Amino acid sequence: MSMSAAGEGDQMKVIIVGGVAGGATAAARIRRLDETAEIIVFERSGFVSYANCGLPYYIGGVIDDRRALTLQTPEGFKRRYAADIRVRSEVTAIDAAQKTVTVRDTESGREYTEKYDKLLLSPGAVPTRPGIPGADGKRVFTLRTVEDTLGIRAFIDSDRPRSAVILGGGYIGLEMAENLSRAGMTVTVVQRPGQLLNNALDFDMASFVHAELRSKGVKLLLGAEAEAAEETDGGVVLRLKGGGSVSADMLLAAVGVTPDTALARSAGIETGIKGGIVVNDRMETTVKDIYAVGDAVCVRHAVSGREALIPLAGPANKQGRIAADNICGRDSRYLGSMGSSVIKIFDITAAVTGLTEKAAERAGFDCERIVLSPPSHAEYYPGARSMTVKMVFEKGSMRLLGAQIVGGEGADKRIDVLATAIRAGMRADELKDLELAYAPPYSSAKDPVNMAGFMAENIASGLVKQFHWDETEALPKDGSVTLLDVRTPGEYSKGHAEGFVNIPVDELRERLGEIDRTKPVYVMCQSGIRSYISCRILAAEGFDCSNFSGGYRFYKCVTEEKVASQSLYPCGMEK
Ligand code: FAD
Repeated sequence: MSMSAAGEGDQMKVIIVGGVAGGATAAARIRRLDETAEIIVFERSGFVSYANCGLPYYIGGVIDDRRALTLQTPEGFKRRYAADIRVRSEVTAIDAAQKTVTVRDTESGREYTEKYDKLLLSPGAVPTRPGIPGADGKRVFTLRTVEDTLGIRAFIDSDRPRSAVILGGGYIGLEMAENLSRAGMTVTVVQRPGQLLNNALDFDMASFVHAELRSKGVKLLLGAEAEAAEETDGGVVLRLKGGGSVSADMLLAAVGVTPDTALARSAGIETGIKGGIVVNDRMETTVKDIYAVGDAVCVRHAVSGREALIPLAGPANKQGRIAADNICGRDSRYLGSMGSSVIKIFDITAAVTGLTEKAAERAGFDCERIVLSPPSHAEYYPGARSMTVKMVFEKGSMRLLGAQIVGGEGADKRIDVLATAIRAGMRADELKDLELAYAPPYSSAKDPVNMAGFMAENIASGLVKQFHWDETEALPKDGSVTLLDVRTPGEYSKGHAEGFVNIPVDELRERLGEIDRTKPVYVMCQSGIRSYISCRILAAEGFDCSNFSGGYRFYKCVTEEKVASQSLYPCGMEK
């Protein structure tokens, strides 16, 4: 029996604006719930259900068949879901009182109206305009749609650009930095904040990304603000505030996205941050029988509880399903977004879930962080690589707030476990109890997530105190404290933090007499394990000691932005 919200026996007519992530998902779900509903999807572009997330990889040539980008043709979608798909059709107005929309056929220019019982808006977002003169030049591009992608590819094929400047160092900017490099260009990324992926990562974790990009020849101008783009003979010059400029053959503006909500606003629907549509947890807008999902809506951040814009494909798809349920008379609720996301940047992966440390602080949490560099799988099985894990939790309650991982293999899997743990409301120390699948090619008997749990428990129980990279510079170098590096002499001689003296962990018990018992001791090793062992030895002898969080590998990457070694060797063994 089909369920219909239009009344028993009536055929419900649903109009959907936008036929990609949220809109296409909703159309398919509505059909699966109600075989009789009339479903019309209006899509402004020429494509439906396309893979936005794959677009950069078509430009870089990783995906070489453009048909792979369109998951469904309008005809295929129509056949499978018996939905009326109208591409190149823009909804230009909503009359909420009459329950009609005005549609313009963008090819013929013809305008007409359609009635609806339920209206779902999934119009997505538009690339934010950089707000500088010259941003609409012929060599300036943005990337959102298949048409944008084909335009960039056509330009590359015809003009053979050898260099590109990318304005904006977020996800799309960095995926394009990699893919334009693959396409043979020298690439410069200009980013206003002092770090890349500013909304996703803390500065320390972003250092790994900076190092990776630089090592692959991408030039980074961080803390640089664009003033104007000027077209030159065969190129474009991006002028920077305070002097300086970057010349290139093309410019990609990727400074974020803005919800595409002019249509919603003109219909009297309430909007919030950056014009995002305000919805409740049933994805209902403030106007009766109008629902909205995806990049266009404001969501509740599942960790901070604050209103947020989180433009990601997973949330858009889930919200589309929830709206469809409610349109069809069910009761489904959206629990909020956590911003779980992952990006490939050349040979590394950066993955994140929940709040960063800076976002947690902004949200008013009194938080603690831990940093560890566990191997991706058993060290003795070939191919293991170090990943760097940063986990943020609330002091006292130990509530998990967020995590960031930069590494290679297995970074994505660990972030997903942590995302699940956050969703389940777990405490940071409870991660030690998770029983996770293990065999040498995949993990270690103590998975990196378990290790994070052990560390959190050790800190919470007072077994070990820690200090961090951004506290190290301020440590006195006048002898009033002992700064101790417990790696091997070989490791120490290749580089160490200023003022640290070397006593290898395996000699520590015999050489305790060399350390002043009346002074605090700050201990560092390569990854944090030997320094932890040393802290336990010292604590047992009555020393007041603190363990450096993340180890010298982390310290060096953050302070020098050098590529951190991903290769492993047993702690304490020379390499
Ligand atoms: P969209 O999928 O953008 O669909 C909105 C559609 O509505 C558009 O096709 C538009 O033409 C149409 N439309 C708008 N207004 C009207 C109107 N008035 N009438 C008719 N049609 C209209 N997210 C991830 O989670 N992971 C990734 O790796 C990732 N990579 C991305 C890479 C790129 C290059 C881009 C652009 C986005 C990426 N995203 C990624 C984000 C993800 O694609 C979006 O979050 C998701 O597509 C949002 O779904 P949506 O339905 O809200 O909007």
